[in-house]
Amino acid sequence: MLTVQEARERILENFAVLPAEIVALADAQGRVLAKDLISSESVPPFANSSMDGYAVRIADVGDAPTSLPVSGDIPAGTAPAALQPGTAMRIMTGAPIPPGADAVVPVEDTDDDRASGHGQPPPATIQLRKRPRHGDNVRAAGQDVAIGDTVLKAGTRLGPAQLGVLAAVGVAQVSVVRRPRVALLSTGDELVTVSETPGPGRIRDINSITLGAVLREVGAEVLALGIVRDVLSQVEARLAQARDLGVDVVITSAGVSVGTYDVVKTAVEANGELNFWRVNMRPGKPLAFGRVHGIPFFGLPGNPVSALVGLEVFVKPVIARLLGQPWAPRSVRARLAEPFESDGRETYLRVRLEHTANAVVAHLTGAQTSNLITSMVRADALLIVPGGVTHAGQDQAFEAWLL
Ligand code: AMP
Ligand code: MG
Repeated sequence: MLTVQEARERILENFAVLPAEIVALADAQGRVLAKDLISSESVPPFANSSMDGYAVRIADVGDAPTSLPVSGDIPAGTAPAALQPGTAMRIMTGAPIPPGADAVVPVEDTDDDRASGHGQPPPATIQLRKRPRHGDNVRAAGQDVAIGDTVLKAGTRLGPAQLGVLAAVGVAQVSVVRRPRVALLSTGDELVTVSETPGPGRIRDINSITLGAVLREVGAEVLALGIVRDVLSQVEARLAQARDLGVDVVITSAGVSVGTYDVVKTAVEANGELNFWRVNMRPGKPLAFGRVHGIPFFGLPGNPVSALVGLEVFVKPVIARLLGQPWAPRSVRARLAEPFESDGRETYLRVRLEHTANAVVAHLTGAQTSNLITSMVRADALLIVPGGVTHAGQDQAFEAWLL
C-alpha cells in the first residue's frame, strides 16, 4: 500500500499551474497573482507633507522663534508654485511640498491657533517656535514603493493589504490565476440533503457542505453536483455531467471501499482509470485517485472526518499547485498530552493545542473514530504520528498542522 508521501507525489505529477485571466481590482479579493508585479510608478508619487503646518526653507528659520510672511496656501490635491525665499507657505497633510522648501513645521509649533476655522485664508505672518531639521515632516516620493520595485510576487494571495498596494500603483486590471474548478459529488443510498427529513436508515449529507467549504476557502470554484445513489449508471451519469462542466478536478465522497454497493471505483474504471485506491493512513485509508473522462479524480472516503483529512493531505496541495502557490501547511511541534497506540499507519489525530510556558501540548479531542464530525469542531490542529510508529509516549513531540 502506498505511503501518504508516495501517494501525494503520484497525485501532484498530474497538475500544473492554471492559466491566468484578467479581473477588475474590485473583483480580485482572494485571488492569486499570476505574475510578479513590478511597479511602474512611485508611491507616494511626489514629496508631500505628513503634517498640517508650514513649509519652509530651513535657512530662513533661526534658532529662536522666527516670524515669516506667509506667501501661499497648499491644500491637498493642488500643485504649488515654488516657495519664495524668506517666506513660509501653509500646507495640509498629503499636499505636495513646494519646490524650494525642505521641511514642514507642524502647526502645533507655530502661533497659528487655527481659530480662523474652516476654509479661512492663512495668517499674513507666522511665528515658528522651533527650527526644523532637513526633511522634517516631509514624506519623500517613492518612500513606500519605488519605480521598478517588485511589490508582489506571483503566487501571492490578494488580501486587503495586497489589494491596497495594487490600488496605490494604479493596477485597475489584475492578472490572476484562473480559479480551479472542482466538481463535488456525495455518493450513498443513505444520503439526503440538509433540508430534507431523513427517512428510516437515512442520514444527512455532511460532506458536500464540509468539503465545499474547505475548497472555497482555499480559492477553488465549487460546482456542487449534489447527492447520487449507489447505482452504477447514476454515478456514471454524474461523472459525465462533471466532464461537460469542464472542471479541473472531480471529487466524490464514499463508495470507494470494499462494500458490495461501492460502485464509484467501477464507474471511474469504466470511463478512465484508477491510479490507486488505498493509502496507508488513518483515518482515510480507502482513498482513490485516477482519471475519469481524462479529468483528475479523487474518491474520498465517506466518513466525514476521513474525507476532510483526505482533503487536507491530498487535495489542498493540488489546489495550491493549480494556483501556482507553494503548499506549506502551517505547523508546530507539539507534545502528546497522553500516550497513543497506533496500528503503524500514518495517523492524523484531532487535537486541541495548549500553549504552555515551555511547550505546545496536544490534547486528543476525545474518540478518534472517523465518523465523529464534532471531533473536528473541537480540534484546532491535526497531529501527525508517522507511519511505523506503534506506540507514542506522553510528551513525545510530533508535527501538528494548524486547522
Ligand atoms: P462508505 O465509504 O460509502 O462505506 O461510507 C462510509 C461511512 O460514511 C458510512 O457510514 C456513510 O454513511 C458515511 N457517509 C458517506 N457519505 C457521507 C456524507 N456525504 N455525509 C455524511 N456521512 C457520509
Ligand atoms: Mg456507502
